[in-house]
Amino acid sequence: MSTTTALSPEVLAKYQPVIGLEVHVQLLTETKAFCGCVNRYGGEPNTHVCPTCLGLPGALPVLNRRAVELAVLASKAIHCEIRETSIFSRKNYFYPDSPKGYQISQFDRPIAENGWIDVPDATGATKRIGITRLHLEEDAGKSVHDGFADSVSKTYIDLNRCGTPLAEIVSEPDIRTPDEAFEYLTRLKEILLYTGVSDCNMEEGSLRCDANVSVMLKGATKFGTKAEVKNVNSFRYIRAALEYEIERQIEVLESGGRVVQESRLWNNSEGRTYSMRSKEQAHDYRYFPEPDLPPLVVGEAWQREILTALPELPEARRLRMIAQYEINQQDAMTLTATRAFADRFEEAAKAAKSPKRVVSLITSELTGRLKAANLELDQSPVSLAGIVKAADLAESDELSSKMLKQLLDTCFAEGKDFGEVYERDKPQQISDAGAIEAMIDEVIAANPKQVAQYRGGKKTVAAFFVGNVMRLSKGQANPVLLNELVTRKLDALGSAE
Ligand code: ADP
Ligand code: ZN
Ligand code: MG
Repeated sequence: MSTTTALSPEVLAKYQPVIGLEVHVQLLTETKAFCGCVNRYGGEPNTHVCPTCLGLPGALPVLNRRAVELAVLASKAIHCEIRETSIFSRKNYFYPDSPKGYQISQFDRPIAENGWIDVPDATGATKRIGITRLHLEEDAGKSVHDGFADSVSKTYIDLNRCGTPLAEIVSEPDIRTPDEAFEYLTRLKEILLYTGVSDCNMEEGSLRCDANVSVMLKGATKFGTKAEVKNVNSFRYIRAALEYEIERQIEVLESGGRVVQESRLWNNSEGRTYSMRSKEQAHDYRYFPEPDLPPLVVGEAWQREILTALPELPEARRLRMIAQYEINQQDAMTLTATRAFADRFEEAAKAAKSPKRVVSLITSELTGRLKAANLELDQSPVSLAGIVKAADLAESDELSSKMLKQLLDTCFAEGKDFGEVYERDKPQQISDAGAIEAMIDEVIAANPKQVAQYRGGKKTVAAFFVGNVMRLSKGQANPVLLNELVTRKLDALGSAE
């Protein structure tokens, strides 16, 4: 799936790629943007439809309040300014999956503008990618080209998706490498998931990306002519498509040609792009204000109300967690992989004796085993409650690290949670006072310095003896009895005067 150009690194290095991304994301509403039809993927073709989303004469659109709220949430999360009064426009074009003959969108006065997302660049430094705008619009239906007996000669139309609310998020041409594009998309998707704006399911088309790319000679001030790559359904393929397209354009220029402004399709199995059609200009769409919808007004009070639902965003959360749990960036990435997991983790950590130990169990013991078993965090047989139990037992020295590892291995081998396996396989407890006393004597004899400290009045040293005896007993000493006997033995030595 690599490109086939024969361009030398020296030639490639003469050029500067410029990339801008347009992301369409379906909003997670109950109903469609302008009618009461259910907004749900799939279903029998042409069943989630009504006169409005079918574009029947006389049917009028009514804007979905929830779609506006989600758009405002997303806009704020990507640092956009909200426009108090925005306007819906008609974007006119004919296509079989759009029965009205136009798409309701926003044109010159979108709901939000001037945002940004920070991404790490090649050196690991933070780079800010500008966001031109976020606007609201409706999705089209789908043309179904195969799956029917007469699919060779006929195309079928499914209008279930017609009128699904979308936010289109347009980046500035600030992206310089395919890797930066990948990072930008990864962060954007994470933000949209954290805010609950979309499920971002790329297989179902909830998140779609058009990638605009051009190249210019390094040092040039004017951007080259761009091509727009469509039909790419994973971030990794978008990166590959951009890599291909950059080399293709350089090759065109190097051989004396000119890049034409056009839409190109990515072919995944061939690993290349194909020219699809020359790109329409904005004036081809004959945009005009939508006469059936009043201006959208999102006043300050409503904005404030919406923003109470804005959660701590992933990047800020990682920074806080790095400080709070004394972990590194990598661990923070693991723990914040999804908002649900991060929430559950923090809840669990609060209940644990040592949050730090919970973190280290997850990042050292759990993730390794998950990887080996090819499981995601949310598929782990060991729940967070199980991890907390294990961490607490380890913290109080009731479980040696060797035993802990063994129990976790058993959990993964049997697909059982830690609590269950621990109750069944836990080390036999020693509750024989004589046996415990013998071990305490041994530890006391081996540690005269700590004994002296205790006798000198430093009572907290008792924990040192408890811990050492627990280890000596391989975690098997009855902890309550052990505590009691240690204090009694040490006190019996009398205080040092
Ligand atoms: P169009 O009018 O063709 O839709 P826009 O100016 O609206 O173009 O930009 C669409 C997207 O293309 C934006 O994400 C923008 O950042 C990006 N873009 C614009 N010009 C270039 C360029 N020369 N090279 C790469 N990307 C570009
Ligand atoms: Zn409808
Ligand atoms: Mg445009």
